[in-house]
Amino acid sequence: MPLNRLFWLISILLMLLFLTLIGRIVSSEWSAYQRSTTSIPAIKSFQLALMVEEKLTAERGPTNTLLRQKSDDAARELARLERLRGASDQALASLRQALQAQAAPWLAPVIAHVKSTERALAAARIRVDFLLAQPTPQRDTEAVGAAVAMMAQSVDAIAPAIAALSGIAAQADPQFRDGLDSARLTSSLRNIAGRMGAIFVAPVVAHRPLTAHEIYTFAKLSGQIEQLYSVIELQLHAYRHKPAFKTALDTVRDQYLEGGLDLLNELLAIGRHSGNYGMNAHELSARYVPRMAAIPHLRDLIVEEMLARAEYRSKQAAYFLLAVSALAAVAMAIFVLLMWVIRQRVLRPILDATALFVSLADERLGTAIPSPRYDDEIGAMMRAIRVLKARSLDKIRLEKQREAMIAQLQTLSDTDFLTGLLNRRAFFAQGEQQFGIAQRYRRQLTLILMDVDHFKTVNDQYGHQAGDQVLRVVAELCRRNRRKVDLLARYGGEEFLLMLPEIDLSQGLAVAEKLRRAIDARHFHLDDGVMVKVTASFGVAAFEQDNNLESLIARADGALYRAKNGGRNTVVTCTQEVASTPCAPSSVAPLHGVGGVGE
Ligand code: GH3
Ligand code: MG
Ligand code: MG
Repeated sequence: MPLNRLFWLISILLMLLFLTLIGRIVSSEWSAYQRSTTSIPAIKSFQLALMVEEKLTAERGPTNTLLRQKSDDAARELARLERLRGASDQALASLRQALQAQAAPWLAPVIAHVKSTERALAAARIRVDFLLAQPTPQRDTEAVGAAVAMMAQSVDAIAPAIAALSGIAAQADPQFRDGLDSARLTSSLRNIAGRMGAIFVAPVVAHRPLTAHEIYTFAKLSGQIEQLYSVIELQLHAYRHKPAFKTALDTVRDQYLEGGLDLLNELLAIGRHSGNYGMNAHELSARYVPRMAAIPHLRDLIVEEMLARAEYRSKQAAYFLLAVSALAAVAMAIFVLLMWVIRQRVLRPILDATALFVSLADERLGTAIPSPRYDDEIGAMMRAIRVLKARSLDKIRLEKQREAMIAQLQTLSDTDFLTGLLNRRAFFAQGEQQFGIAQRYRRQLTLILMDVDHFKTVNDQYGHQAGDQVLRVVAELCRRNRRKVDLLARYGGEEFLLMLPEIDLSQGLAVAEKLRRAIDARHFHLDDGVMVKVTASFGVAAFEQDNNLESLIARADGALYRAKNGGRNTVVTCTQEVASTPCAPSSVAPLHGVGGVGE
């Protein structure tokens, strides 16, 4: 897999992993925050429901007393009852509104409980008002008992709502389960305490002893009170280090469990034998009710503590959510930056360097090498590539120079130093090829061997330098009179060879004759101003049945020999027939002029 694709694949996988991790952390913090925000209204609704229970219990007490006991100050008692009823209505309305404002479907059953409590209360009050309208002595005892029971039922009617709200709050945040239970138990404690006091109202009003059922109920409730208190004390053990909790618990014990219950136990002791309690119902209420006040105070303390904790946790959760989200964003940004840096500073330069190495290996040296942007390892690699490229360029330049030198040496080794014509060795190398072609394909091929006449005399008379000069001019004349395909070589001292492919003997003769005339007509002006004239003799032989180049040259040489013997400055041809008696002088007819053909 290419490095680039691998990089993208790993980046995407890492990114997905990273996003999943971050998603998990943020979502867990989000649900903690959600829990904390839902637990606050749940606890508040629970608190309002407890308040309803308290207000209904508070209303029930005076109702009981007013129904049974004739009061000296009935108007004041009725006004107090009105105030307590107003407080009950207010508490119920607050709870209902709070529940409806949350508009949560799971609160519908709770709202139904609240409404049924309102209906039960309204029915009980109608019954109570009906009885209160009658003079106290005319009131039917059973009807009063029924009205008091209806009031008690209206208090009990709110219990399912309290239980349901406690469950909802505990579900929103389970850590409040103990607190909610404690608050409910404390509320029950207050409720039972009220009911225990209520047992004595009828006997006190009637100045009668307690019935066996009343004594039994008292004993049962008394046992429940002891139990509830010890459970509450146990559940609140963790809070005992808080002075407010310690004081509230101690106050409940001192004021109610010792003060309040002692009062009731005294009345119980009297009620077992006589109905002489020494107080009326109003006095009983005035002495007993204040002793219960510590219980709702403890309950409020528990609920307030829960609310404070819920709010603290909500703030903490919001802070954590914010912090985790911010950290996640920063981590994400760092991750993306890291990937970008790796891509820009490592991967891309490596890919670029690979492309450069490949182009260097392919000797594509025109590719530009980017200047390193950073003084790092990649920069060092780019500089190394630059050095490699420079070395490659040097190597190629040196190779070209070497090839040029080899070509030059080749030319030099093939060339005659004095005349610039092919030398004897090069002539044989190239001439053998031409001869081979002529031999294989039966093609025409003619050879002219030329020798300057009396050249020794030129040397002797004008010096060797002058001789050289003459040789160069003769070579130039030969060069001018040959075709491109012809091979022209200096065969020996003042001897020249001309090989003419695709040329027959008569055409070769014409070429030789033309050359002979050109030399003959030429005035050789030497450096010192002296003018020299030379001639040359020519032997011409055409390829016929020669086995090799040497034999063809030998026949041309024979013809040249005859030309020399024939008086020089002539062209002599040699044919195959005469070659068996190598171009004997008798068979030679020296020629002077074009068209002079021997044999
Ligand atoms: P002939 O007409 O029979 O050919 O007479 P010739 O004098 O030309 O023949 P010979 O073979 O006696 O002499 C050839 C001379 O050519 C001898 C030699 O000094 C001279 N020679 C050979 N090579 C060179 C050269 O490169 N430069 C000069 N200047 N002279 C050369
Ligand atoms: Mg010679
Ligand atoms: Mg000669």
